[in-house]
Amino acid sequence: MKFEDYHINPAIKKALDKLGFKKPTDIQFKAIPPILKGEDVLAIAQTGTGKTAAFAIPVLHLLHERKQYARQDGIKCLVMVPTRELAIQITEVFHTLGKHTRVETMTVFGGVEQAPQISKLEDGIDVLVATPGRMFDLVSQGHIRLERVEILILDEADHMLDLGFIKDIRDVLRHLPRKRQTLFFSATINEHIKDLAYSLVTKPIRIQISPKDPVSKNVDHSVAYIGMDDKRFFLERVIKENEGSKILVFVRTKVRAERVFAAMERVGIKSETLHGDKEQVDRLAALNRFKKGEVKVLVATDVSSRGIDIPSVEYVVNYDLPDVPENYVHRVGRTGRGTQKGKSVSFCSPEEKPILDVIEEYLGKPIKVLDIEKQDYNATIDFSSEVKPDLKSLMKEIHDFEDATKKKKKPKKKK
Ligand code: ADP
Ligand code: MG
Repeated sequence: MKFEDYHINPAIKKALDKLGFKKPTDIQFKAIPPILKGEDVLAIAQTGTGKTAAFAIPVLHLLHERKQYARQDGIKCLVMVPTRELAIQITEVFHTLGKHTRVETMTVFGGVEQAPQISKLEDGIDVLVATPGRMFDLVSQGHIRLERVEILILDEADHMLDLGFIKDIRDVLRHLPRKRQTLFFSATINEHIKDLAYSLVTKPIRIQISPKDPVSKNVDHSVAYIGMDDKRFFLERVIKENEGSKILVFVRTKVRAERVFAAMERVGIKSETLHGDKEQVDRLAALNRFKKGEVKVLVATDVSSRGIDIPSVEYVVNYDLPDVPENYVHRVGRTGRGTQKGKSVSFCSPEEKPILDVIEEYLGKPIKVLDIEKQDYNATIDFSSEVKPDLKSLMKEIHDFEDATKKKKKPKKKK
């Protein structure tokens, strides 16, 4: 079935056509009809399979087609997401798909000036995409009214219902009308979170696409055993062997991100970092430069592991393994989006082996191992552009010097 055969408003079809979206993806095919019917939906589908449009298309249709239009009443659809970058991205999808509709979408998030966000809100908004923090400030100040919300969407739902966010979500729920439509979307979910999700909704339609392997089928992913102190040489090699490719590097902490950045700089590789310690404007600027391809290597923490859709990221490197096994799926899912193919390699040091075991157990199968021969391993370190005190060449220099002085001395004695 093609989008043109759908009973969705021509204004949306026009935008889909412009984007070149002809056929719905599997998740769109399955999720759009029940959402149009007003059902609650719990949808699980792999990374990069078009979950955003799976909820944006029917929501835009429903809001655009309503007969009575009273935007001043407050927002009608609330989309909750874990990061600011994702809030902006999803807002862009609503803007693009809703370009010819009368639906107004905006995002609010912390870390930037509040005044412009308030004045825009006062103009009247239909769809609000938000991270919990700033939204609560604006709700408590009376700038956001949630009592007319008809549709609540949690994107990256398992993360939004997990420890860090669940309190915020419960607080949001208290502000929303009881009678509403609730939609959950994610690439991963566990039994505990699933139960929690069910407890928040009524008779949800459950849609799960390819549940056996949570890793996107477009991603060729493997693991390489590399000592902690050698990781930088292997990253240098991956980057140099894939010159011109966009590479996203994940590390465990903000401090590690800056260290990897510095190590790459020492060997003449330009990169940028993205993590929670950076100012919001700098975070967005770094992400934009990476999107545009002005910088090819982005070193990030898990703040960027979920939802971010950057076209043509060829490679994801897990410089450190993620502590949370789900994040493996989300990190490697930053490549291989839509119909594109992608590659990923994870550097596993001996001390990280237990983390790898947990990830593999979560995936339900082992990750392909990249065999690196001893010779090749050493060559990678030797070929690094890093200037390092090399014991072998240092010894050779000493011997050469000694030989030279001996030779000089001998003729002297003869004289
Ligand atoms: P997910 O949320 O499932 O990880 P996204 O919603 O971010 O995935 O979409 C991934 C990519 O697929 C985006 O770049 C999007 O533009 C593209 N896409 C979505 N739906 C379609 C479609 N029907 N046809 C072609 N491309 C699509
Ligand atoms: Mg998504």
